[in-house]
Amino acid sequence: MQTFLVTGGVGFIGSNFILKATKEGWANIINLDKLTYASNPQTLAQLQDDPRYHFVCGDIGNVELLRNLLEQYQPKAIINFTAHTHVDRSILSPEDFIQTNIVGTFQLLEASKIYWEKLSPQKREQFRFLHVSTDEVYGSLSPTDPAFREDTPYAPNSPYAASKAGSDHLVRAYFHTYGLPTLITNCSNNYGPRQFPEKLIPLMILNALHGKPLPIYGDGKNIRDWLYVADHCEALYLILQSSRIGETYNIGGNNEQTNLTVVEKICAILDELAPKPNFRHSSLMTFVKDRPGHDRRYAIDCSKISRDFGWQPKEDFDSGLLKTIQWYLSNPTWVEQVQSDAYARWIQQNYGDR
Ligand code: NAD
Repeated sequence: MQTFLVTGGVGFIGSNFILKATKEGWANIINLDKLTYASNPQTLAQLQDDPRYHFVCGDIGNVELLRNLLEQYQPKAIINFTAHTHVDRSILSPEDFIQTNIVGTFQLLEASKIYWEKLSPQKREQFRFLHVSTDEVYGSLSPTDPAFREDTPYAPNSPYAASKAGSDHLVRAYFHTYGLPTLITNCSNNYGPRQFPEKLIPLMILNALHGKPLPIYGDGKNIRDWLYVADHCEALYLILQSSRIGETYNIGGNNEQTNLTVVEKICAILDELAPKPNFRHSSLMTFVKDRPGHDRRYAIDCSKISRDFGWQPKEDFDSGLLKTIQWYLSNPTWVEQVQSDAYARWIQQNYGDR
């Protein structure tokens, strides 16, 4: 069986990818993750004794560790999920984003190049470096602008988006300069099980369940495209298996929603699943000062992946949201673990009681 080195695989999308990869028998997985505040080691506890899975705690910037892992496990592909990912945190303290997202990706590329150059011609041909990125690199759209395409110029607006754009450019350069067989994907907002509750959907679910305010930035009319995480993972595997090297693919849900609508939908589902007498969860909605430089609208044109591979998002937003909420309701221990003291302190420092 082939082996994939997955980096950042304890996080939201990486862990969903690994669970799917082991379930479907896509590959044996080596998972390199630093276990930052945004990851819960218990997320993948069910794979602890699975011989097809091996976890290594470490930083993608650790060149020696990378060299040893690559020599030892000889992966057919590297899938880079690693990043600092929360836009608000990137505004308050951008340094970690530059260090991990740009410098870390550079170190991973460099180690991959050295490894790839030493492979036999047949293995060199088969090797892939898949870099998982975001639609935020393209900047902000007006209501009438066409959706982002793969040839839309980069115009990142937040330190997070800029750090991801920097990493995308490095990946592209390693293909064009050194011939490293890279692939880049730019995906819209993901939602689903196991997402750290600083992101919009799990934050709103958990705040609502605990009777806390539901903070909505500005007028709540910022638009994002939402994709169920399992659909994203399938798209990544398809691209890995079938794409020509050096390609970029946009991945999206054809599902533009205002933040306000997303929160209203969550509240309506919770009114059904977790009802309280004479209480509507929407009464907790609170408009707060807008995020600085808040992009107004993202939309993804994913006709390229659809045309090349017949990929389409399968999960409908309402059913995906229902499944997501049911997962958070059924996994209170996971939630307690990620809402640890360290996380609570950070929220308190940066957001007060909000
Ligand atoms: P996440 O924040 O949930 O997980 C990131 C993981 O990376 C964590 O497990 C963390 O411990 C690990 N990590 C951070 N720094 C590290 C380092 N220096 N060395 C090793 N591990 C480190 O992120 P996510 O939401 O799963 O996103 C995964 C990737 O997908 C990111 O690159 C992100 O930019 C991209 N992406 C995310 C979304 C989304 O909606 N979540 C959408 C499009 C693209």
